[in-house]
Amino acid sequence: MAANELDFQFGGRLSLDLTWTLRYRSVAPTELLAAPSDLGRWITEAVAPVREPLTAPDLASAVELREAIYAGATSSLAGEDVVRGVRETINDFAARPAPFRSLVGHAGATSHLRPGAEVECALAVVALDAVELLASADGRLRVCEGPGCSLVFYDSSRPGTRRWCSTERCGNRVNTTTYRRRLAVKKPNT
Ligand SMILES: [Zn+2]
Repeated sequence: MAANELDFQFGGRLSLDLTWTLRYRSVAPTELLAAPSDLGRWITEAVAPVREPLTAPDLASAVELREAIYAGATSSLAGEDVVRGVRETINDFAARPAPFRSLVGHAGATSHLRPGAEVECALAVVALDAVELLASADGRLRVCEGPGCSLVFYDSSRPGTRRWCSTERCGNRVNTTTYRRRLAVKKPNT
């Protein structure tokens, strides 16, 4: 189980992971990027280590991109075209210099943010993932069925039948609730 309900969560698609920093969007929006330092932690966990101090405009940029990605995903889920303003925002972020990679050891590589443009660079790679995700329009976007969750995720399972943002988080919770309910119903008979 997740250590903390409000820890950052990652589901394998960087662009959607950024949208996951606003939890319970449909019932009780909970902002995980409350301060620039929160964004620094997110980028460090999601992309590469941040070494420079972040600012309020950095945070505003990340939120702007996040909301554009969410709007784009919502359109895609509805089978609609991504509106122009949203496309332009995502494209603008995606056009900036992306992180660079370097080989380490004998079988591995690591990402680095460009000094002096760390946030710009991290958001560029997030936006590039959004471009790929929304361009593919492959019918694999889903909304988590977990109670109150509503996170949008990409279903990369082979049969395409995934229902939860994460089995550990929402899958277990649903199973536990169903199990308890079943027990509660059974009790009078036993
Ligand atoms: Zn969920």
